[in-house]
Amino acid sequence: MTYDVVVIGGGPAGLSGAVALGRALRTVLVIDAGEPRNAPADGIHNYLTRDGVPPAEYATLGRAEVRRYGGEIRDGRAVTATRTEAGFQVTLADGSTVSARRLLVTTGVTDRLPEIPGLRERWGHTVLHCPYCHGYEVRGTRIGIIATTPMAMHGALLWGQWTKDVTLFRNDTFTPDPDQERQLRARGVTVVSGRVTAVDDDGVRLADGTVVAYDNLVVQTRMEPGGELLASLGLTVTEHPSGAGAYVPAEDPTGRTAVPGVWVAGNVADPMGQVITSAGAGTMAGAMINADLVQAETAAAVAAS
Ligand SMILES: Cc1cc2nc3c(=O)[nH]c(=O)nc-3n(C[C@H](O)[C@H](O)[C@H](O)COP(=O)(O)OP(=O)(O)OC[C@H]3O[C@@H](n4cnc5c(N)ncnc54)[C@H](O)[C@@H]3O)c2cc1C
Repeated sequence: MTYDVVVIGGGPAGLSGAVALGRALRTVLVIDAGEPRNAPADGIHNYLTRDGVPPAEYATLGRAEVRRYGGEIRDGRAVTATRTEAGFQVTLADGSTVSARRLLVTTGVTDRLPEIPGLRERWGHTVLHCPYCHGYEVRGTRIGIIATTPMAMHGALLWGQWTKDVTLFRNDTFTPDPDQERQLRARGVTVVSGRVTAVDDDGVRLADGTVVAYDNLVVQTRMEPGGELLASLGLTVTEHPSGAGAYVPAEDPTGRTAVPGVWVAGNVADPMGQVITSAGAGTMAGAMINADLVQAETAAAVAAS
């Protein structure tokens, strides 16, 4: 069969889009590789009525909601999608194919961590990136910001809202100018020079052997959308203006892309998006895809009359 819509990626954006489409009585299939970006986190915060829900439980609840409205979910990874007369053919990693009239791409981003030993295994627990996701939970603790770009300045000032104990590790990558030095002093931020060589339970290890104790660390990741699938569709991956990574820019706030019949929503289109805004973007894209199908069906009915 040809689905009205295949949603590629079953995180908050994709599942929300699928619910909107199912509720619009559309046939919809979600293909999901099952690796949401926030998987390492204990719970989701800043999501009204879902505060603290573990990401896996959120996915289970979301999948059940999609199925309640007739949507189907297939575990797997889409590797390419190509245009056909009816719309698109999506090929999965296991070699199977599915067809759709429209596509909603909600594949998210991957966080590339700085190449510092000890960060990966602590990621999402004591190595953090977003104060709005974790700040409240770690308020009042010793926070270390490891600079990997000049954006560390922003982080050093911001995290002072949650604790008075902020240390900025310059890590041989960021040198504050005199104005920034004044700002850091005024906010009570401790600045530590030297390259960070590793992180362990004792502290942040510097190239000269110094170990600085911490409770929680903050790093800026580079956010990158997956490659092959997007390229096969002709979607443009470009640098995000924030400097935080790459994304697929939509043509308008509904998620419509420059590739006819393809919408994007969630982190793939907005790397700064949180769970609730990604879910909202998915709902919007789902509704707009339904409207687009209605328009096409109306035109076909007029032509046939
Ligand atoms: C450690 C951490 C903690 C966070 N905590 C919070 C928080 O507390 N509150 C908050 O609001 N935000 C939080 N975030 C941000 C949150 O993770 C994102 O806003 C949200 O995941 C974006 O949803 P999404 O649907 O766009 O992408 P994702 O949730 O990443 O979902 C994308 C899905 O698509 C799948 N996929 C990818 N490629 C393919 C493919 N080719 N074929 C099939 N499936 C594919 C993936 O496996 C995944 O299941 C956190 C992020 C991190 C890294």
